[in-house]
Amino acid sequence: MLQHYRSNPTQVLKQVWGYSGFRGQQEAVIRTVLSGRDALVLFPTGKGKSLCFQIPALCLEGTTIVVSPLVALMRDQVDDLKALGIPAACLYADQPDEEALSVRRRLRAGDLKILYVTPERVVLPSFAQMFGGTKIALLCVDECHCVSTWGNNFRKDYLSLGKLKEIYPGIPRIALTATADPHTRRDIVRLLELDEAEIFIDSFDRPNISYEIVERSNPKAQLLQFLKRHKGESGIVYCLSRRKVEETAAWLNENGVKARYYHARMDARLKTESQDAFRLEEGLCLVATVAFGMGINKPNVRYVAHLDLPSSVEGYYQETGRAGRDGMPSEAFMTYGMQDIVQRQRMIDEGDSTEEIKRIERGKLNALIAICETAGCRRRAILSHFGEAYEQPCGNCDTCVRPVEQWDGTDAAIKALAAAYRTGERFGTGHLIDVLIGKVTEKTEKFGHTSMPVFGAGKDLSVQTWQSVYRQLLALDLIHVEHDNFGAITLRAEASNVFKKKRAVMFRKDRVASTRRGNAQKTGQRDYTGLSGSAHELFEKLRMERLRISKELGVPPYVVFPDTTLIALATQRPRTLDDMLEISGIGETKLERYGALFLTALWDTGD
Ligand code: ADP
Ligand code: ZN
Repeated sequence: MLQHYRSNPTQVLKQVWGYSGFRGQQEAVIRTVLSGRDALVLFPTGKGKSLCFQIPALCLEGTTIVVSPLVALMRDQVDDLKALGIPAACLYADQPDEEALSVRRRLRAGDLKILYVTPERVVLPSFAQMFGGTKIALLCVDECHCVSTWGNNFRKDYLSLGKLKEIYPGIPRIALTATADPHTRRDIVRLLELDEAEIFIDSFDRPNISYEIVERSNPKAQLLQFLKRHKGESGIVYCLSRRKVEETAAWLNENGVKARYYHARMDARLKTESQDAFRLEEGLCLVATVAFGMGINKPNVRYVAHLDLPSSVEGYYQETGRAGRDGMPSEAFMTYGMQDIVQRQRMIDEGDSTEEIKRIERGKLNALIAICETAGCRRRAILSHFGEAYEQPCGNCDTCVRPVEQWDGTDAAIKALAAAYRTGERFGTGHLIDVLIGKVTEKTEKFGHTSMPVFGAGKDLSVQTWQSVYRQLLALDLIHVEHDNFGAITLRAEASNVFKKKRAVMFRKDRVASTRRGNAQKTGQRDYTGLSGSAHELFEKLRMERLRISKELGVPPYVVFPDTTLIALATQRPRTLDDMLEISGIGETKLERYGALFLTALWDTGD
């Protein structure tokens, strides 16, 4: 018999998860599902989507089926649920026979509350038959944007989920995702036949993530400087190429940062090793291509750094969004330069997409460049890209913390444009800058550029400033990089208005160093826990205990307790097991399993 049949969601939240109240629209979603209606949930990462179907699963009679794209994701969630004492399991392709058999047996016996499966299975007739007399309570499609996004490996399988309504008539369905652009949303509703679903959308702001984007000068030194603020913490560093991923990881290890790497072409065994290490260990820096990320449920990723420009704002937001699921302060950091823009544009131009798709890709890239070059609040710029208004500057991004200075760049823009125009729109920025600063080189002499009036016309500004000028002209779409012609800079029609002084140009002053952390932090390393003194020592002690237990059980530390629970323990210092139930994240099962151990860790002075 099912042991967790309860009907009050708030009570389930408290008893099983140990949380005192619902967040945002969680309760409204749960009520909708419990009343038998379909729901589409669009919440950002970390808002607590899982509870929106896990709590109904416990309240309803029968088994809830959860469709998820990745085995790693499914297993993580099952680990989490088991730690809470909830009977859950998953079925997947290469599962050992014995395990699969036991899952089927438990399913038929009505012994499972939640069953995770991959999308291609759930629509097979044999799958439905497996249930025997067991009732299907709820159908859940997690990561439902997979049905829409082009180019993801799961799209085909997700498309077949359109049949769920027909295969399982009358069973409520809930679909969830952290991707909410209107186009994807419409696709989800249409392709999953969710026309009657109630739609829940939450703000996509991630207030605990701070954003910083700096001009690249010395990327390795910049990265190391950044990582100094994150000693002992886990995070991800994204690079564009496999080679750079491997090199960066090796270099970090030489420089005292514990790092591993991950990219698509690695040996499968090494991939699993890196993934497992990231889940199980604390304080690991994972250097990766974007192949790494989906299926990463780790809640305490404290930073995401980009050493290369991502392909779009969507990509940037999704990748940085892997930080701080637990709601604690986290950082998104990026270095970028002209080379990135040129490289990304080349990737689009040389790709084999249709012209129409290339046009969309260029638009997406330009939107990201505009965010990199903005003098205003980055969060506001990002959210506005997703159609969300954010009124005040956020106070938690680099441009808010240290406002960017701007300068009237009309004259400089004219010179930069003239350098390209006078030399026949045939040269890249390197050569154009040589011309502007009046540097005699083999090339400037050979082409007779040394005798032009524009030669040396920009001596008053540094090479770095000219690089910034060209980048911003690109962001303003006043120039274009011709990849078919070795990166030659050509002028857009609008440039003529700058020449004629009909249009003024403001530039932002570049900043190079990364010197900040979160909210106006002073010098020294701030700990993300916000704890100090004896509370911090206690937290470290509890962390050690957690690590010990997690190693013993072979699960990630956060499955035992998230950091937020350890922080609450260290500050509130409960004296009894009963008191412990007041701590957020301690429900009945975890109290029973770990309560005494942590109580000892809290009060045992070690003498
Ligand atoms: P998402 O799937 O939206 O990224 P999760 O479901 O993984 O988010 O939840 C993020 C974290 O927040 C988890 O550690 C979860 O246990 C916690 N959480 C969710 N809902 C609540 C709540 N009502 N109160 C406290 N913590 C919550
Ligand atoms: Zn801001």
